[in-house]
Amino acid sequence: MLLAARYVLPIAAPHIVDGAVLVHGDHIVEIGELEKLKAAHPDEEIRDFGLAVLMPGFVDLHTHLEYSAMRGLVDDLPYSQWKIQLLEKEQYLDDKDWEDAARLGAAEALQSGITTVADITETGASARAAAGSGLRAVAYREVSTMEKREVAGLMARATEDIAEWREYGDPSRLTIGIAPHAAYSCHPEVYRQVAEKAIAEDLPVAMHVAGSKDEYDFVKYGSSRLAVDYRDTFTGVDLGWLPTGVSPVRYIDQWGLFEVPRMLAVHCTQVDDADMEILAEREVAVAYCPRCNAKLGMGVAPLGSFLERGIEVGIGTDSPASNNTLDMFDEMRIGLLIQRALSGYESHLIARQFIKMGTLDAARALGLDNRVGSLEPGKQADIIAVDISHSHQIPTLYPYSTLVHTANQENVVFTMVAGQVLYDSGRWSLLDIDRIQARAEEMRIKLRVV
Ligand SMILES: [Zn+2]
Repeated sequence: MLLAARYVLPIAAPHIVDGAVLVHGDHIVEIGELEKLKAAHPDEEIRDFGLAVLMPGFVDLHTHLEYSAMRGLVDDLPYSQWKIQLLEKEQYLDDKDWEDAARLGAAEALQSGITTVADITETGASARAAAGSGLRAVAYREVSTMEKREVAGLMARATEDIAEWREYGDPSRLTIGIAPHAAYSCHPEVYRQVAEKAIAEDLPVAMHVAGSKDEYDFVKYGSSRLAVDYRDTFTGVDLGWLPTGVSPVRYIDQWGLFEVPRMLAVHCTQVDDADMEILAEREVAVAYCPRCNAKLGMGVAPLGSFLERGIEVGIGTDSPASNNTLDMFDEMRIGLLIQRALSGYESHLIARQFIKMGTLDAARALGLDNRVGSLEPGKQADIIAVDISHSHQIPTLYPYSTLVHTANQENVVFTMVAGQVLYDSGRWSLLDIDRIQARAEEMRIKLRVV
């Protein structure tokens, strides 16, 4: 099939005007000008999207698909209170709810042009939803306990789950990793054992790191609402928490977690120069989640400093519980504007850089850049089409700017993963959207009445 549009963005090469991408089976065969490809392949079926952009699908570096049921449930609270409220509401959902909430998340991702998610989940619902919807995913099995004596049992259950979750989908699309939840919810033995396991078994690891001032104060000084309300209410641990006297990054580093080769640190809003030196030296990748960080008052990640130090950075939406949509356009736009508002103009923080962070750089952070993240012959055909013909988008002079400054998730009209069309103009090929919407309404009622 020959996919064509006004603009083709290969990402690793300059964009092509009136371009096309030739897809055979699950991979890309050729990219170039439409007229040339048409002449070379006269019998090929053509799908021309007109005034649109063809580009690699987004790689969303941080999601929790199963939290889609919580969209708009706890708004307008700072991070710690939001987290506590969320944990209180969670108990009203049953196993089937989590499954359908994750399907709702998968449907939204595909409709938004996201073709790969890096998702942290304790239930595995995200892994099942990704496999069932066709999404490419790295699903991290979340682990957390504050009690040392529980760590062995926790790791044994996680090991069983990882083996089971691998069976949900084709290993070329579904990768299973492991994720200690956060510095305020894990005993350090969790980091030590996760690091040991991940290095021995080549597992990818993700963790929420230095995401809020409350987390920073909890780790360094033993104070903040996370020390009192969260720990007392949800961890059930009687033992005291001793302040460590160091930042979250230094604390986690001393337990060896950053030695893991495919280590992804999510948020990193509360980091200083010494922390960034550690992240750079250990080659830890960072998921930049600007909208969630802004909405929950978590701070602003020092993106320019990350990039100057050569830290790999991709963009993550986080979950609809915090952020309320899986819209990578919003994420790129707000992520760019926040940095520029704070730091002034920096020549590398431009629209094209943000599109690269939303695709190829994020794929590299996951170790998937040899297969996805850019349009190149031989790579997997994870391709989206974004319509840019609306009155607020024309004339289109530079497609990167059009995408970052005028587009939104609803402009995505076509999403393909591994050559398989999964979303096309309001229709999902593998998901029953009517049923998912009906279930979302049931969950809304459950959550509302409590
Ligand atoms: Zn998260």
